[in-house]
Amino acid sequence: MKKFDAVVIGAGMSGIACALRLQSFGLNVALIEKHRVLGGLNSFFQRVKKSPTGQRLGIRQFDVGLHALTNFAKKGSRNRPLMKILRQLRIPYDSLLLKEQNYSLIHLDNRKIKFDNNIETFIKEVESFFPDQLEGFNKLVEVVKNSTLDTSDTLYVSSREKIKEFISDETLQEMIFLPVFYYGSSWEDDIDFKQFCIMFQALYLEGFSRPYGGIRTLFNILKEKMQSLNIVRMMGVAVQKIEQKLDHHILELSNGEVISTKKVFSSIGYPETQRVLGKKVNKESVGKLGFVEVQIFYNDLLEKKLPTICFYNKTKKFVYRNPDTLIDTDSAIICSPEGYDEFEGKEGILRVTFLANYKLWKELDSKQYDEKKEYVEKIARDLICEVYPEHNRKECFIDTFTPLTVEKYTSHMNGAIYGATKKFLNGDIGIKDLFLIGTDQGYLGITGSILSGISMANMNGFPTRHNP
Ligand SMILES: Cc1cc2nc3c(=O)[nH]c(=O)nc-3n(C[C@H](O)[C@H](O)[C@H](O)COP(=O)(O)OP(=O)(O)OC[C@H]3O[C@@H](n4cnc5c(N)ncnc54)[C@H](O)[C@@H]3O)c2cc1C
Repeated sequence: MKKFDAVVIGAGMSGIACALRLQSFGLNVALIEKHRVLGGLNSFFQRVKKSPTGQRLGIRQFDVGLHALTNFAKKGSRNRPLMKILRQLRIPYDSLLLKEQNYSLIHLDNRKIKFDNNIETFIKEVESFFPDQLEGFNKLVEVVKNSTLDTSDTLYVSSREKIKEFISDETLQEMIFLPVFYYGSSWEDDIDFKQFCIMFQALYLEGFSRPYGGIRTLFNILKEKMQSLNIVRMMGVAVQKIEQKLDHHILELSNGEVISTKKVFSSIGYPETQRVLGKKVNKESVGKLGFVEVQIFYNDLLEKKLPTICFYNKTKKFVYRNPDTLIDTDSAIICSPEGYDEFEGKEGILRVTFLANYKLWKELDSKQYDEKKEYVEKIARDLICEVYPEHNRKECFIDTFTPLTVEKYTSHMNGAIYGATKKFLNGDIGIKDLFLIGTDQGYLGITGSILSGISMANMNGFPTRHNP
């Protein structure tokens, strides 16, 4: 039987970062991934378009997750999450080839607010459109700047209630929440105030960037690191069962192998980890929020700069819930991966993301499923026309994923990207030497999940006299 000091389950962002950090402590580490491709929720894929007669019409590369790398930091900045992860993983800043966002837009009802990587832009918008809210908004910014995360603090504080201490205008409240919920709330219609502060910092105080070349640029760096550190990678292999022994764990794998390890770091989610531990999965521990995304390639994207991300809500009140229809057409994100510095080419993509109901998608047969995807694609096109009426609409390629796609490729129950509302900030789920990392540990997004992998490895993987 192969023996390891640590096994990391899942080669998404948190798993890769965790394995790299553990190996740098001199541990013998295995990284086990069910899928054949790295990245999990932040992977990449390609699609071939064929004519009805099977003739190959074209091929395009897609990113799964990367709308934006949050927590942007300029080279040389200090005390920023992005700088911390680069330092801990020994990745040179310049190798990421980061491009900053043009600007993003919050579009609610008929109101629009701009923000970019300088919070002063947002503050000026508040001053122009909500002058009586400026003082409260500035106070909120200060509270977020001074907030620190106490991982032992498990008390839930409703942000919808808390924000009233600073902002009395309901439209501005909704506008602040729109990006925050869409980019990181696993709660319906609210978010714990601790998470709110993390997201506010990540989106509004630090902002968005994108590696030139997309997520592959980051993966190429991480892959090279893994190769140089000789991490054992098992791709296309799922962990099927974990058996807890006195001072080690036995793992049964889908390729028939059985391995032994002192420590397990699981990035697959809390209920999913419970499942491989053979424990009962509580319905409440499974996330409710799923998404559909339509990615449309255009031959000729706008010459003028598009907003990087438009957070859209049709009505005055933003509802962020599992919809009771296939998708919620009242709100969406429109992301333009070309909306970063120096868009050089003519062809470009727009990505439209809607809240979606996993259960309703699951009930469809394959013919209905394809029809409904086409229906959603039409809604996405119509929304683009409405939000960007001047947009040149010469479409050349399209692809759509649903909560079922997310479930198929990442094994997250319900295709819930942000997992459940219960998070385990110290990684401890009550099993000795097994730690949760990634989404259900509580740090979301690309930067967040990398930070999660690193901090859980630092806290629980570092060999000490007491913790050999
Ligand atoms: C459409 C979309 C857009 C997004 N946009 C952004 C964005 O713009 N900015 C941002 O910061 N974040 C974004 N995210 C979120 C971000 O991608 C995730 O928060 C992050 O990638 C989560 O990483 P993780 O390591 O926690 O989990 P995952 O990526 O889910 O990794 C878990 C891995 O475990 C594997 N696995 C599951 N079960 C097993 C098993 N039994 N055995 C072995 N392996 C297993 C899975 O295949 C998967 O690879 C987006 C996500 C999506 C889907």
